Formats: sequence, C-alpha cells, structure tokens
Amino acid sequence: MALAELAPETRNLIDGELVPASNGAEFENVNPATEEVLGTQADGTKEDVDRAIGAARRAFDETGWSQDHALRARCLRQLHEALERDVEQLRAIVVREAGAPVTLTPWMHVDKPIAMVPYWADLAERFDYEREMTEIDFMGTPMRRLLRREPVGVLGAITPWNVPLYLNLAKIGPALAAGCTVVLKPAPDTPWSGSYLGKLAAECTDLPPGVLNIVNASDHLVGEMLSTDPRVDAVSFTGSTATGRRVAACAAETVKNVFLELGGKSATVVLDDAEFEKVLPGQAMTCVHGGQGCAITTRLLLPRSRYEEGLAIVQAAFEGWSYGDPTNPANLQGPQISRRQQQRVLGYLEKGRAEGARVLVGGGAPDHLPKGFYVEPTLFADVDPKSTIAQEEIFGPVLCVTPYEDDDDAVRIANDSIYGLSGAVASSDDERALSVARRIRTGTLALNGGQWFDVDTPFGGYRQSGLGRENGEMGFEELLETKVMALPVRS
Ligand code: ADP
Repeated sequence: MALAELAPETRNLIDGELVPASNGAEFENVNPATEEVLGTQADGTKEDVDRAIGAARRAFDETGWSQDHALRARCLRQLHEALERDVEQLRAIVVREAGAPVTLTPWMHVDKPIAMVPYWADLAERFDYEREMTEIDFMGTPMRRLLRREPVGVLGAITPWNVPLYLNLAKIGPALAAGCTVVLKPAPDTPWSGSYLGKLAAECTDLPPGVLNIVNASDHLVGEMLSTDPRVDAVSFTGSTATGRRVAACAAETVKNVFLELGGKSATVVLDDAEFEKVLPGQAMTCVHGGQGCAITTRLLLPRSRYEEGLAIVQAAFEGWSYGDPTNPANLQGPQISRRQQQRVLGYLEKGRAEGARVLVGGGAPDHLPKGFYVEPTLFADVDPKSTIAQEEIFGPVLCVTPYEDDDDAVRIANDSIYGLSGAVASSDDERALSVARRIRTGTLALNGGQWFDVDTPFGGYRQSGLGRENGEMGFEELLETKVMALPVRS
C-alpha cells in the first residue's frame, strides 16, 4: 500500500503556539521497521513543560473554558474534521514511526480513534453537570441538595508508543470534553503522532491558548514534572506498570487524582467442550503488532484432556502467521518499537527456555529480516504458571501455553497474576463460558470471539493493571470532581 509522503509537525504546542524547544534541541525519530531516521522533533525541556503547565493553569483558572460546554463541543468537532481531512498523513506517520501494520490502521491505530472524537463532543453537551437530589430532613428543616460535577482542572497526560494516535486522542478527547485543560507528553519513540495533533489544534480549531499543550521530550524526567508539579490537578498515565508505580508515587506528594492504565498478562481459557478448530487458529493474534498491546491475551490455558490436540492447531496457526514489513497489507505483525524493546523480548525468550518451557515455534530474532527490530512469532508450550514468562508482561509476539486439570484449576491459574486487564473464555456453551468469565478478576473479557472495544466501553484493569477506567461515561467522569451544595428549603 502506498502511504502518503510524510509532512510531520516537528514543533511542540505551548500556550497556543507551535514552538521549538526552549534551547533549540531536537531528537531523532526512527522508523523501527527500517532503522532509518525519519526526521527530528523539538526536544522539550523542563522550562517548556513549566511554561505549558503555567499556560494550562491560566486557561483553566482565568477563562470560561471549563464552563463553556458548547465551545468545548465545537472545538472537538473542529478537531475531528481536521483529523478526517488529514487521515492519510496520520496513517503514514503511525505506520512509519510506530511500525504499526497498515492493515490494522483502520481499527486501533487511525480511523477508529478518529471516529471516536465526536462521542466526546456530544458528551460535553449532553452530560448532566448539575442535578437536584432528593430533599432530606435536618432536625425538622427540609434541605435541598444539588449534585454538581466540575472538571478536575489541569490534566497531565502521559502516553506510550504502542498505539500512539489512539492513546493521545483517548486522553485529549474526554479531558477537553469535561472542561479540563491539558498538558500531553507523548512517548519519545512516537513523537509525531502527538505533535501533528498540536498542529491541527493550533491551525484548525478555536481552542483558546493554553487549553491544550503537547510537549515532546526525549528525557522521561521532563515528563515526570507532570506528576510532581503542584499546579497539575490530575495525572492520566498509560504505560508500563513499573513507570505507573513511579508516576503514582510522585503524584501522591500533592495528592493528585491519578488514572493509570498499565500492563496485562491476560489469559485465554479454552474449556474442554470448545470447538478447537474454530477457536484456536485465532490464538496467533497474540502476535498482532508484535504483541505490543496491554490487553492482548498472552497466556493460553488448554484442558489437559485435549492438550496435544490443541497445541497442534495453535502451532499450525503460528507457522502460517505472516509478519515483517508493516507497509505490506499481508502482515499483521511489524517490528518491536526499538532495539531496546527487541532485546528485552529476546531476553524473555532466553529466560523461558532456561526455565524449562518448550519452544514450538520461533524463539529468536528472524535471520531473514536483518534490518528493523523484529522478533519471531514465538509459541511456548508446557509453561509453568509460576515461571517468569507466565508472570511478567513481555510485550512481544509470544504466547505461553499451560495445561490445566478442570474449570476450577483454569480459573485459579488465570487469576494467579499481579495483573487483571483482559482475558477470554471459549466454550460451545455460552452460559458455561459466562460462568467461568464471572470468576476471572479482570476488566474486560472476550467470550467465544466476542469483541468489547469501543468508545463507550469502560476500559481498565483490576489489581496492578491500573486505576480507574478509560472511555465511556465512566472515563469521562474520572475527569470530573463532585460537589454537593445544600440549602434550607424556603417555606
Ligand atoms: P517504555 O519503558 O516502553 O518507554 P514507559 O511505561 O516507561 O514505557 O513509558 C510510557 C510513557 O511514560 C512515555 O511517554 C515515557 O516517556 C513516560 N515516562 C517514563 N518514565 C516516566 C516518569 N518517571 N515519569 C513520567 N513519565 C515517564
């Protein structure tokens, strides 16, 4: 597929203006599929983030933005129109800088996230920000009470590189709709998916200066200011559990509202009555986008009674899986985002072998793709549920298969994790699948190939997979404070 020629925005958006870094510094944006330098991005400094936070604070405290629902809806609709106009530019950016398979871009990476924006515009207008509660009696005097929802204030949003356009929009959309002002710090691996939004916001919308700031920076500690600065009211972070813990710890000092969408180690439980030929070939989808998705199911639990039969089907699916150049529409798996991530995944493959798991397919870096940060689709069998590769998030194209004895055993293994983000259950009996799913402690579950993702689906995790929910009215309400006003009823 021919992608549009790149015409990225390389400046940051601060206080309504597209600007270079305060010290003029830039960093390189590398295509993970080719290792070629695509270009550069303004390398935001602490002074830049300081100015962005100041601008967001002013826009929140000193303008009518937070109360003007109609203006917010209009700006979001203008942003949506601009995104639609430039969809091919955004596709070219996401495929090149994130190594996202072009075939996946209509779904998670580009078209779907753009189509989600009007939901936030509509919600800004239709949400019930203030309502009467029932009267109560206070020692003989009737009391009227009003329940009011108000934006939480300045939001610091920190996003990762795996689905960059989607995640940037998933932070910006509800925050602007709710009346917050925002400083977004995208991941340094995928800067243009953020900076292009800054260009569209500055050039195509009526967003008042300071309402939306987008500061790219190569130094993670520049972004850390969003979780420490007292002028920031809330932090919304998507990324690894390790960094999430740090963000939450830093935010605790000033008791910020914290939203965290972190890692996962989700299990697919295939029950013994499942139609294996229907269910198991799809397990190769663990490798989609190099396995770089927190909600991907990366553990497969098969009934011991049908273990070898199941393994053979999954193995065939892995052997037939097509991966490589993300611009080739046949490939659903491109490279890992960086050399560092590739090496990290390869380290887990070594560890898996050392801990006694059996490699059925893959197990290393592919010889036929010497350029780019590729990892072979890898299928491990006989994985001990306590072993490292069954417990830690690998974020690579790796599926770990473990046999179980009965339904109780399967539920126990599925729940034996610090994570609880997603999961799947397969059975030829929907009610049996549902009853197992009800016992799995996780935020989303796909039953018999079900699909849950949409803009109105609350998404998030149990346990160390995170705090709070993104998307839907629940996600919107994460960005609202709650106020109750009481007054005696006049007789
Ligand atoms: P990775 O290790 O793959 O980069 P992270 O979860 O660390 O994944 O990164 C996700 C996002 O968090 C990125 O935007 C990154 O710059 C940012 N980040 C990393 N460390 C910190 C930190 N200490 N404080 C705030 N943001 C951070």
